[in-house]
Amino acid sequence: MKLKLDLHPIYNDSRAIDLALRGIMDEAIEKRITEVEIITGIGSGQLKRAVLRFLDQPELKSIYHRVEKDGDNWGRLFVHFRWERLQMAKAVAAVAEKENYVCFCCGTEVSVVVSAVTLQEEGPETRMVECPSCGSPNRLTISANRQGQVKILAASGYES
Ligand SMILES: [Zn+2]
Repeated sequence: MKLKLDLHPIYNDSRAIDLALRGIMDEAIEKRITEVEIITGIGSGQLKRAVLRFLDQPELKSIYHRVEKDGDNWGRLFVHFRWERLQMAKAVAAVAEKENYVCFCCGTEVSVVVSAVTLQEEGPETRMVECPSCGSPNRLTISANRQGQVKILAASGYES
């Protein structure tokens, strides 16, 4: 399966470009896409360089297999993926993110590392954590929706 991203309409909005690139990479990981075509347009060397810089980030480089540049003109880039086991594991690790919960006991905001992709694949996770502020056990129910938004519910971890 292939995906296509046309950056032409947002060529002068670096924040929108960044978000679009992140979005397409997340989608590629989620759907095990084999190729992503990124259209930068002819004569847009600056945009192409921005995309290459984005793809050059270490945590992304471990995910895709290689970047192919359009032979005749510089209007397109192709990002190739190979979803072997190891690469999938790396991809899941790469999209691990920090999410906050509020301690049921003292109300302190605490962050935990979660992976939206793993949650989407394997369903909600229950985790016991000790609040670093008050020491109370929190029972976290961590889930992700289809858009990859993570939700954490914190309840008392004391046995009732
Ligand atoms: Zn607490």
